[in-house]
Parts: sequence; structure tokens; C-alpha cells
Amino acid sequence: MIYNFSAGPAVLPKQVLQQAADEMLDWHGSGMSVMEMSHRGKEFSSIINAARDDLRDLLNVPGNYRILFMQGGALAENALIPINLAGRLTGGDLSRATADYVNTGSWSTKSIKEARRYCKVNEAASSAAQHFASIPERATWRLSPDAAYVHLCTNETIDGVEYHFVPDVAAETGGAPLVADMSSHILSRQIDVSQYGVIYAGAQKNIGPAGLTIVIVREGLLGHAAAICPTAFNWKIVADNESMYNTPPTYGIYIAGLVFQWLKRQGGVAAMEQRNIEKAELLYGYLDSTDFYATRIAKDARSRMNVPFFLRDESLNEAFLAGAAKAGLLQLKGHKSVGGMRASIYNAMPLEGVQALVAYLQAFEKSH
Ligand SMILES: *Cc1c(COP(=O)(O)O)cnc(C)c1O
Repeated sequence: MIYNFSAGPAVLPKQVLQQAADEMLDWHGSGMSVMEMSHRGKEFSSIINAARDDLRDLLNVPGNYRILFMQGGALAENALIPINLAGRLTGGDLSRATADYVNTGSWSTKSIKEARRYCKVNEAASSAAQHFASIPERATWRLSPDAAYVHLCTNETIDGVEYHFVPDVAAETGGAPLVADMSSHILSRQIDVSQYGVIYAGAQKNIGPAGLTIVIVREGLLGHAAAICPTAFNWKIVADNESMYNTPPTYGIYIAGLVFQWLKRQGGVAAMEQRNIEKAELLYGYLDSTDFYATRIAKDARSRMNVPFFLRDESLNEAFLAGAAKAGLLQLKGHKSVGGMRASIYNAMPLEGVQALVAYLQAFEKSH
């Protein structure tokens, strides 16, 4: 048995991969692979519409929000967010626009750096000085009264920090919408979409193959793009064309749709969240119970999806990883900027995978 703890691209449900294999050459008797279909034909239309509807059901997306299937990943959105939204209060003029960002780790640092190319960025709070081991206390945030939006990365994939609360920022910002990078925990927990203006996520962590990017945006926030916005990345144009202004990533949308159906069969996001809590508690519980391993993240900010941990004796790292691979536990090496180990335990990671990891952690500790 192999368990893949990659941070992304990451493990997908076996049943989904099996179904895609079965349908690879002939989708539903059409005589075509999904890869060979016109994106405007009736077959693919039924695929993209079902995927959109299922995602709307799973996340309870209100009717006044649009779901966009885009390309370019979360990093492209880091530029497209200021380009589409920062000019919201200045008639599209980015030179006078301000956006607030909260810095909680590697990915929000990147978002900030990219946004600075387009508009003024106010870093409202940062945990950099604490090595991103926690989320800055909400009371310490210094928000702008004229912020076009407030950006958060709600799960820091590299640092292993997750928001377990939704900050209320309306009062100090004159009602600025929250914009959240949810790439690595979308669909892992229940959320109230109406508390956000924009939610975005690259698909390759918790949804499907790389190449598909999901954007969920409140309708009232469309139509503020700056003049420099590439047409194919203008959210309003993408929305008006039902994500078909240009050819969307058709195969990625198909696989994402299968994952959405799989999630529904598992009981939806509420059921996934319960399992994810169980998996995270099992792993953190073991890591907390021994001095052989260590974690560095404040307990109230620990990610349920990405669990960085360290061996106290780092000279054993190589042996640890080699033994893990031998036991079928793959891709546990930590990100190079953090070091140590990282176990990503997304929706598609079964409880048995985490049990196998804990058994290995125990066995390695005993033998060293
Ligand atoms: C992986 C990741 C990204 C980068 O996504 P790309 O698809 O490579 O652009 C950005 N933000 C978060 C939180 C991520 O986990």
C-alpha cells in the first residue's frame, strides 16, 4: 500500500482515478475522450455545468456569487486580484489604490510581493518575526480605512498555519471584502462563502490536477478591472462567458467534477471536515506525545491539511525519509524553506494513511 503525502500536486481519490481510467477512451458512449471534445459541445457542456453545480452545492455558494474556472494557478491570481479589484474605489486607477494584506507565511509573502507591482499594499499584520508560527492577533491588525480589499491566505501550505476563524474587517475598512487564497484547504472544512468577497484556489492540492484555478467571486465585485487587465483574465468577462471566453482546462474540470461527485458520496464537506479533524488529531496527538519529534506551530493555528514536523536529531532525517519510502509513505520531506518533514493530509488521504504514518513514526523512534 502506498500513501502519498505530497503538498501538491497531491493525492487524488483512488475511485476518481479509476473512473477516469475507465472513461479515458470513450466518455459515456460518446466515442471520444474528454480531452478530445469541443469545449462548446453538448458533452463537455454537461461536464462543466455539473462540476459548477456540484461545487456550488458542496460549498453552499450563494446565488449572488459566480464560480469561475480559470488557468494560471493561485500565483497568477495574485496579480489578477489587484488588477481586477484594487481599483474598486478609484475607478480602476491602480496608482491611487490601496489593498490590505495579512502576512502569515510563504504564500502570503508571495501574494504581497506580486500585489506591490500593481497597487499600494498595506501589510496590516505579519507573523514573520515569529517565524510564521501563529496567526497575528486580530486586535493588532492595522487596516486601511480605504482598503479596496483585505487579503488572507487561510491555509499556509508551507508553514502549516491555518485560520480557524474568519476575521471581521468591515468596520475599520469601510466594508472592504475579504479575499482568501484557499488553495490548500478549500473543501476541507465548512465555510460561509458570504463572509468573503473572493475565494480562490489552485486545484492541485485538494481538488484535482494542476492547470485549473477556481475563483468564487461576489457579483458586485465584478467589473472593476484596470485597463491593463488581459481580456482572458478579466473576471467579469470570464463570468459573462461562463468560463468559456477562451478554451478552459477541460480535462482538469472533468477530473475536478469527478472529485466533487466523490465528495458528495462521502457525505459532503461536513463529513470531510469531521474526518480531517480526526486525521489531524491523530497525527498532532502523536507528535505532541513524544520528545523525539517536534512541531513549531501554535496549537490554535495548526493546519489540518499540512503538518510540518521535525526530528529533534536532524542528523536522522535521511534515514527517516528512506525508511518511510520503504514503508510506502511517500513525499514526506519538508519544504526547503522550512526544513524537516511535512505530511500533507488532504481530503483524499484516508485515515488509514495517517494511521500508517503514526505507526512508522513510532517504529522509527523505537529503533533510534
Ligand atoms: C500551491 C499554492 C500556491 C501556488 O499555486 P500555483 O498553482 O502554483 O500558482 C499559492 N497559494 C497557496 C496557498 C498554495 O498552496
